[in-house]
Amino acid sequence: MSDKSELKNKKLLVVLAHPDDESFGMGGTLALYASRGVDVRLVCATRGEMGEIDPEYKETLRSAACLRTQELRCAVEQLGLSELYFLNYRDSGMPGAEANKHPKALAAQPVEQVAREVAHLIRAVRPQVVLTFDPIGGYRHPDHIAIQRATVQAFDLAASPDFADPEGLPAFQADSLYFHTMNKTFLKLSIAVMRLVGQNPRAVGRNKDIDLVSLTEVEFPVHAKVNYRPVKDIRKAAAACHASQGGAETQKGLRGLVDFLFAGYNDTFMQAYPVPAAGQRVKRDLFD
Ligand SMILES: [Zn+2]
Repeated sequence: MSDKSELKNKKLLVVLAHPDDESFGMGGTLALYASRGVDVRLVCATRGEMGEIDPEYKETLRSAACLRTQELRCAVEQLGLSELYFLNYRDSGMPGAEANKHPKALAAQPVEQVAREVAHLIRAVRPQVVLTFDPIGGYRHPDHIAIQRATVQAFDLAASPDFADPEGLPAFQADSLYFHTMNKTFLKLSIAVMRLVGQNPRAVGRNKDIDLVSLTEVEFPVHAKVNYRPVKDIRKAAAACHASQGGAETQKGLRGLVDFLFAGYNDTFMQAYPVPAAGQRVKRDLFD
């Protein structure tokens, strides 16, 4: 890891789909860099309209989107992020869901359109490092895949003189683009533990529509591994902000047990840009 003085003037932009992606996913990495003085900013494409909300929350708040926006602001503060940008698309469901047909559904937008919005933010923020999901969006959520594709396009678009920025911002080439990948060791261990306690790893999540076993069949190379143990409690606090999405429970029960057993606290990343050199060693720092 670069020392604090080197990281002082660095910026990191992370582009994701829903309120909670930042904490449940690579929250440890985001908190780690923020704690080291990096200016870490988040683009969230939707407000999580499709999130299931417990009835107790419905009484005091108008909508899921409103509650989840609040939860995200709480997490952003916990993680130490300096800015939050919304693209104001609508949350889509898993493949085949009715919500995917909504005219504002993120998964239904032309990739180029979303890419232009992200490219504008890349030019405005001028980050050295850009982060997003892997090509299967972690667990194949259509919104995750949509924002990943848009970010890949946006990364090049921001650097292209041919892209006419809506505010006339000049072209900007970020140093690197990484995809957050599922930690396969962790995933396989989770599956083993689930089977031990009689849970079905092929039907996970509130809607039982996530197949963890199928995710172990996709291998992405690991080019960087970031250890966030020093800020593991910050990640936990940020996840707890997403109370309506079971943020606190993910730290207890099964997930807590797996965390305890594995206790690696490593986020893994695939390097998309620049193209990694053959035999490149695994980096421990995304700014390396
Ligand atoms: Zn998500």
